[in-house]
Order: sequence, then structure tokens, then C-alpha cells
Amino acid sequence: MGTAVRIDIRMRQVSGLLILAVLATTGCQKHTESSSQFATERQKMVQEQLRPRGIKDERVLAAMAKVPREEFVAENVRDKSYSDSALPIGQNQTISQPFIVALMTEQLRLQPTDRVLEIGTGSGYQAAVLAELVKDVYSIEILEPMAKDASSRLARLGYSNAHVKAGDGYQGWPEVAPFDAIIVTCAPDKVPQPLTQQLKENGRMIVPVGTGLDQQLYLLEKKSGQLAQTAILPVRFVPMVGEVTKKSDK
Ligand code: SAH
Repeated sequence: MGTAVRIDIRMRQVSGLLILAVLATTGCQKHTESSSQFATERQKMVQEQLRPRGIKDERVLAAMAKVPREEFVAENVRDKSYSDSALPIGQNQTISQPFIVALMTEQLRLQPTDRVLEIGTGSGYQAAVLAELVKDVYSIEILEPMAKDASSRLARLGYSNAHVKAGDGYQGWPEVAPFDAIIVTCAPDKVPQPLTQQLKENGRMIVPVGTGLDQQLYLLEKKSGQLAQTAILPVRFVPMVGEVTKKSDK
């Protein structure tokens, strides 16, 4: 009798272990499946959203095909990571649609030796795309918790050449200026002066300018100290806040 009970208990322990093992394996498979699924969707995004709309720079396309966008978006929209749309990243902020990220990056005509300044780190996704293409990325985010999260996310993903600081991007980053390129991913109603000053000769800046729904994406190029301006297309970004809003109140 006693032996039978003991055997029964052992059997239960064994089956308990088996169930745990099965659960662990299923969990792992699920994870592998979804990351390879994301990789497939990422390739599809390049083929279906970026190439047909005219993104040609192969280095930019390769960076877009590499950076895991699913690591940057809000948890509840992870399955939509590669959809043709902007997505929430928490704190009422959004990450741009993949095409806009690729377009802005391509317009900067980046070289591997370049040093780039970004205003509006957000999730860090755009910074990661830039970090694939240039020597160093310096990115400023006004919301401190968001800057902290982006900084640790970029470090975890191995982007040691992306440097994030919390603060108002209006003043740029004078300690590490000048820059070969500047990208602004929030919309001021006027381009902040300190940013144009921190752009090198022959440098490029891409910036959405305007208020509310009335914004235009501009490419500014510094030639003989003067800024040449080209309108690229109408866009909709979150407004730049901080010093820039105070200046426009005057
Ligand atoms: N590039 C980001 C998305 C940008 S969303 C990404 O890849 O995820 C715009 C960001 O600009 C927001 O996080 C917002 O907090 C930030 N922002 C707004 N005004 C700013 C300012 N004055 N300086 C720095 N960041 C600012």
C-alpha cells in the first residue's frame, strides 16, 4: 500500500516536470517564431513600403531591414510594428511611419564617418537606424523617463555609438558640435538658431516646420555659410516643446 502511494507521488512529480518542460519549450518556440516572423515582416516592409516609394540608398534600406522596430514600439501594438503607419511609443508620443524614417535618413546623405545630432529621441528607433549608418549619433529628448528608457534600450541592443541625453533640444549639444547632419523629429514653428549654428559647412539638416496639421518637411544645406532650403513634403509630427514655444509666444 505504502509503496503504491509513494510511486503515485513520484509519478505526479515526474508528470509535473514534464508539463513544465513542455511549457518551457513551447514558450521558446513561440519566441523564436515571432522574432523570425518579425524579420520576415521587416524585409517585406523594405520591399513593399520603401522601395516602391523611391527609397534608393542601399545603406539606408539595409539599416531599415536590420533594426528591430518591434523593440521600440509600445507593447500593445508590437504585432503592428511593420505596418505602414506611425505607432504609439508611450507618454503620448509616436514613432514615425517607416517610410518617413527612411526618407528623412536618406535625405541626410550620410557617410560612415559622420557625426549626427537628433532632436526628439522618443523610443530611440530613428537613433538606432542612424547608428547603423554613421560613426556617432547624439540624441536629445526632453522627457526624462523617455530619454532613460531609450538610452538603456539602445545599449541593450548594442548601439554603443548612440548617445542620449535628457534636455531641451532647442540649444543643440554645443559640447559635441559641430555636426555633419541634424535631424529633428518633432516640429518647431521656426528652426532653432542654435541648431543651424551647430551644422558644419556642407552639412544637411532635415526638419519638420509648422504648427498643428500645417507642417512641411524641409531639407536645409549649409553652403558658404548660407542655408539653402528645399521643401520635401507635408508631414505631421508632434510639436517641439520647451524654449521654442516660449520664443514664438513673444
Ligand atoms: N525619433 C523618435 C520619435 C520622435 S517623437 C523615435 O524614433 O522614436 C518626438 C519626440 O520629441 C518626443 O519624444 C518628444 O518628447 C520630443 N521633444 C519634443 N520637444 C522636444 C525638445 N524641445 N527637445 C527634445 N525633444 C523634444
